[in-house]
Amino acid sequence: MERSEDLFARARRIVPGGVNSPVRAFGAVGGTPRFMAAGQGPYITDVDGNRYVDLVCSWGPMILGHRHPAVVDAVSEAVAHGFSYGTATPGEVELAEEIVSRVAPVEKVRLVSSGTEATMSAVRLARGFTGRSKVIKFAGCYHGHVDALLASAGSGVVTFGLPDTPGVTGASAADTIVLPYNDVAAVEEAFAQADIACVITEACPANMGVVPPRDGFNQRLRELCTAHGALLIVDEVLTGFRVSAAGWYGLDPVEADLMTFGKVMGGGLPAAAFGGRAEVMAYLAPEGPVYQAGTLSGNPLACAAGLATLRALDEAAYARVDAAALAVGDAAAQALGKAGVPHRLQRAGSLFSIFFTDAEVTNFAEAKTQDTGAFTAFFHAMLDQGVYLPPSAYEAWFLSAAHDDEAIERVVAALPAAAEAAAAAQ
Ligand SMILES: *Cc1c(COP(=O)(O)O)cnc(C)c1O
Repeated sequence: MERSEDLFARARRIVPGGVNSPVRAFGAVGGTPRFMAAGQGPYITDVDGNRYVDLVCSWGPMILGHRHPAVVDAVSEAVAHGFSYGTATPGEVELAEEIVSRVAPVEKVRLVSSGTEATMSAVRLARGFTGRSKVIKFAGCYHGHVDALLASAGSGVVTFGLPDTPGVTGASAADTIVLPYNDVAAVEEAFAQADIACVITEACPANMGVVPPRDGFNQRLRELCTAHGALLIVDEVLTGFRVSAAGWYGLDPVEADLMTFGKVMGGGLPAAAFGGRAEVMAYLAPEGPVYQAGTLSGNPLACAAGLATLRALDEAAYARVDAAALAVGDAAAQALGKAGVPHRLQRAGSLFSIFFTDAEVTNFAEAKTQDTGAFTAFFHAMLDQGVYLPPSAYEAWFLSAAHDDEAIERVVAALPAAAEAAAAAQ
């Protein structure tokens, strides 16, 4: 760990917390974050030469594993031509066509560089289109670090227990209505009391751990939005092109007005998107009045990586991701059960997470009842045995099509000792 320790010490002198995105700092689990030097297939190797089975997969994008040959070739080819021109390029058209062909409610799409930009722009567009201000979001849903959407957010915000982030003004939070997830009555009540511009929801929440929508919940949001003239924004930044070729929409086909994408569609480079009904998207500049722009939007290298990733994701690749997720989730639950650790495995397609509690988790308040101390012991025992889990109890575990039997065996072999460590820490 010497080199990671040294780099972390250097980083902390000149980068806040030593990292460029909070969860990377191991703040919730303690210890020295590992600095990675390389990845290959399902493995990542740190600067001290330790190899890990990667169950983070860059938080989702590396669904084909690291350095998939088709993606390496596509990016190498793009690099040879040029990096960025600030003009339109062919790859943007192809990537947009790929997205529109997969996700029926998306008639038009705009490319951006991060999921945060996608949700921020979608909310702005919804407000511009409806002429209204108020946004409904759900506690525990994470939509990036957009000011108006940081209230009661999941992911790093919950990991670090940041209640209401300083720097977000009362004015920008005042138009956000935060409701408990899976609670239809609360949404009906909010619609009865205020003019709502839009409801934004994760297609299937996975940033407070995996909390699937109850049967019909997304459909009910659709109906309420339609009845009240509001727009439904379904955030598929995490689920998009991961849980199926059409994302969560492929499993639960609810017609959103706007959808957001990121992660998988960039193949590990910065690409994201928002899109939806042509009538709504027509409000966007330069066609319409709602301004949105980006110097590196639709960057040729990012489009090449994203396109190659989407094109390589055939049925066999999705079947492999599904099978790997099934095997690892079951094995983890079994090991924890054997060691007597209260836990709950929650799945949604190939997404899953384990809550260190035995009650069902249907919303953020329930997610927060878990025993994060037991998770911390479990996490470190896995890490010591060469398995890199998300360093937070509130994140999904990510598999890829490159997680072969050998990689899964390594995870399974590490589980009993980690479960014992969790039992001892309770
Ligand atoms: C990751 C994520 C975002 C933010 O994407 P960034 O690229 O990190 O800005 C937004 N929404 C959801 C559901 C996410 O999982």
